[in-house]
Amino acid sequence: MTPSATALELKSCPLYINGKPVISTGPKDIQHNPATGEAVAEIPRCTAEEISAAIEAAHQAFPAWSRTPVVLRCKVLFKFRELLEKNSEELVGLVIEENGKTREEAQGSFDRGIECIEFACGAPTLMMGDTVDRVGTSVDSWSTRYPVGVCAGITPFNFPFMVPLWMFPMAIACGNTFVLKPSDKVPRTAARMVELAHEAGMPPGVLNLVHGAKSTVDQLLTDPRVRAVSFVGSSAVAKYIYQTAANNGKRVQALGGAKNHSVVLPDADMKSTVAAVMGSGFGCAGERCLATSVVVAVGEIGDPLVKELVSAADKLNVGNGCDVKTGMGPVITDESKKRILSYIELGEKEGAVLARDGRKDPVANGKGYFVGPTILDKVNPDSRVAKEEIFGPVLSVIRVKDLKEAIDVVSRSEYGNAASVFTRSGGAARQFTQNVTAGMVGINVGVPAPVAFFPFSGWKNSFFGDLHALGKDGVHFYTETKVVTCRWPD
Ligand code: NAD
Repeated sequence: MTPSATALELKSCPLYINGKPVISTGPKDIQHNPATGEAVAEIPRCTAEEISAAIEAAHQAFPAWSRTPVVLRCKVLFKFRELLEKNSEELVGLVIEENGKTREEAQGSFDRGIECIEFACGAPTLMMGDTVDRVGTSVDSWSTRYPVGVCAGITPFNFPFMVPLWMFPMAIACGNTFVLKPSDKVPRTAARMVELAHEAGMPPGVLNLVHGAKSTVDQLLTDPRVRAVSFVGSSAVAKYIYQTAANNGKRVQALGGAKNHSVVLPDADMKSTVAAVMGSGFGCAGERCLATSVVVAVGEIGDPLVKELVSAADKLNVGNGCDVKTGMGPVITDESKKRILSYIELGEKEGAVLARDGRKDPVANGKGYFVGPTILDKVNPDSRVAKEEIFGPVLSVIRVKDLKEAIDVVSRSEYGNAASVFTRSGGAARQFTQNVTAGMVGINVGVPAPVAFFPFSGWKNSFFGDLHALGKDGVHFYTETKVVTCRWPD
């Protein structure tokens, strides 16, 4: 990020230590609105002292918060949820301004985030242990769940509101204290959420917020006061987080990148399949970890499918997410745009047929970081565009002869986040579901995002760790089990 406006015109982004907003004394980067390219805010890189103070606040707050009855902890979250709803217009607007989502996408991510808090409010039931009477003569046994301690959360740019809510509500409901480090590209939504959490009655030190990139993260990964680390981001960083946090004796869940496939069988319903693939491939400008990036067209469906996708992409209204008519917004930064354009070039060099070239759309050549929807056809399954995460509005179409070959293409991927099948055959869907090596499977669903009470179940290089985010995995990640064995003579 390079400065392009005077600091006077720019909004600031506080960190939060011990319940108080703090203006960092560290160096600042400039945040740009991806739809206009205009500088909007100054984003700090926290100093080592500020990060240490945030961890210390969480460390000091832990004993009292962990002993606060779980129902009282959840009352704060109920109030927090209410305040987020009350301020939804502002928060959705922030997501649009920081990230470039359309209004509908930003609202959708807001709703899914709220669902995570609602799930966390079930902590009194979710934390229940097990009991067995008479495991031996006069001996009973039971298990209880205890919070882990100070937890850290590191989040990506693509869901500024929702992904932090995968982490801290459940961690806090379970009795932990938290230090959140949102993406340095979109931290202002998180700062507003943390402010509202305190307005809801979050005690000082329970939820802290720091900013920065690698050096901030490294400090969280190595500080002995941090007991557990949750990460969502790209695979290379996820692997590094997993290894470094584990080497420092921490519990870690690290959700990585993806290369998701949509397999379309010849019997698929064309209209609903095209709508689902369009939504998955080009929704959120392709910047979704569950976005379809590869369409695997089986048999004779290939030609008509590509024709329909190109025609639908031609009709997609690309522009600023503030405009309600916009169907697809910009990508996050100029750097991202350049990376995506280089992949389109690479696809051509690797022999793909450019069925639709989003580089030629007028919007892609004006202000803001826009790339028009792009479709590469007849892509070689072993080419780089077929295998690497592009994270932009570029669909690669691979043609195969049958379902078995399609499953083989999906399963050869080094990633394993999501895979979908489009068909009218229950048998084919079953064969696909049982054999595909991805943790989230869609049947006639383009974005198979689990609701909050199921875990977000990436496989292979899409996940490093044992317990996933959300669902019962999330509860288990943020708690430790104590088993009591008790003898009282009859
Ligand atoms: P990223 O890996 O660049 O950054 C994620 C976080 O890590 C940010 O907070 C960033 O500041 C920090 N970071 C960046 N480089 C670092 C380094 N070298 N050391 C330590 N910390 C570092 O990811 P991004 O570009 O913000 O997000 C997009 C990626 O996230 C995509 O790969 C996408 O697939 C993935 N993602 C995955 C999921 C999932 O559930 N698996 C969900 C959303 C996004």
